[in-house]
Amino acid sequence: MGYTEIRDDLRAELAEIEAAGLFKREREITTPQSAHIETTKGPALNFCANNYLGLADHPDVVAAARAALDDWGFGMASVRFICGTQSQHRDLEREIAEFSGTDDAILFPSCFDANGGIFEVLMGPEDAIISDTLNHASIIDGVRLSKAKRFRYANRDMADLRAQLETARAQDARRILIVTDGVFSMDGYYAPLEEICDLADEFGALVMVDDSHAVGFVGEHGRGTHEHCGVLTDDGNRVDILTGTLGKALGGGSGGYVAAHQEIIDLLKQRARPYLFSNAVAPSIVAGSRAALTIARESDEPRERLQHNARLFRDLMTEAGFDLLPGSHAIVPVMFPGEDGARQASEIADVMLDHGVYVIAFSFPVVPRGEARIRVQLSAAHTDADIRTCVQAFVAAREQVAPDADGG
Ligand SMILES: *Cc1c(COP(=O)(O)O)cnc(C)c1O
Repeated sequence: MGYTEIRDDLRAELAEIEAAGLFKREREITTPQSAHIETTKGPALNFCANNYLGLADHPDVVAAARAALDDWGFGMASVRFICGTQSQHRDLEREIAEFSGTDDAILFPSCFDANGGIFEVLMGPEDAIISDTLNHASIIDGVRLSKAKRFRYANRDMADLRAQLETARAQDARRILIVTDGVFSMDGYYAPLEEICDLADEFGALVMVDDSHAVGFVGEHGRGTHEHCGVLTDDGNRVDILTGTLGKALGGGSGGYVAAHQEIIDLLKQRARPYLFSNAVAPSIVAGSRAALTIARESDEPRERLQHNARLFRDLMTEAGFDLLPGSHAIVPVMFPGEDGARQASEIADVMLDHGVYVIAFSFPVVPRGEARIRVQLSAAHTDADIRTCVQAFVAAREQVAPDADGG
């Protein structure tokens, strides 16, 4: 089959995506990532970045990355184990490990790669992986790359997790690994890590948490969901394996990591395919990420600002009669339930963008049918005035799109 025939098939597939209203288009930004951005279609107040601590254009982070271009060069042109490891790569790994409460850490080109590489190294055909149904795509793909038996439990459902653990035990699984996102990105809900660790102890299982939407800002010192849930304390860390990204709160550059027990890190450096076969994280990204991690570790201000912002937004939106999922995380889903919800959410997001407030609507199949939402993400870079502008835009857009849906 030559390209002419394939092209017709691809065009038909594209047309289907378009007809289903699922076609994704990139919006081009002409400024650094921040709360206030410019796009090719005009200015926008940005409420959909993962820039939780506002570090994506922080002067210290930018300065560290700029200095690294002079001190460390532009690229490594090598994977880590051949000649792609600068001492700053190891420094960053040690800093991530210390912050996470683990023995050591290993960097990957992305967290997608960290999750893609870990399961096939640790888990063979005799083993069982028990995964939350709402886990991130990279966990799903990583699990598929391993030969382990696969079990799934309903989102945060501890009775179901117990049932799956019992099944895995009954099938004589050698190693059992429970894997969960620390924070679920469509809801802003935390995984119940204390209950998960208790079950893991009872069944002799390992616990792995992908903390991409938490590292740097969740928990008393921003160390992550394990700190928030009380399973990372001065007495130790009950989570065996943490994965996370440098592409969100920690500067938003790129790169991911696994932080875990020493032997797990040592084995990943022997066997993990994205580590062995993909280029080392660029020097300027390493330096910028270290500066971002230093801010997250040493300064309470951005984390407290973010918490204040999330609270203020949740309070003002509730007052204005919007239906929010409960919680405290900086991901705040504004719900548009029912049959007409998907249309309402999508039209409201469009109208808001016309008024310069950038938020994104999600509907089936990304979230369950009848649970359409606009996902708002707060940042420490937002001011109180920015948040009030966003709430006013929601009210005005609702007036225009769904005048009867004022929650009353
Ligand atoms: C964003 C995200 C990833 C991917 O991180 P990258 O470093 O961008 O590849 C993985 N897991 C979760 C839970 C995420 O939210």
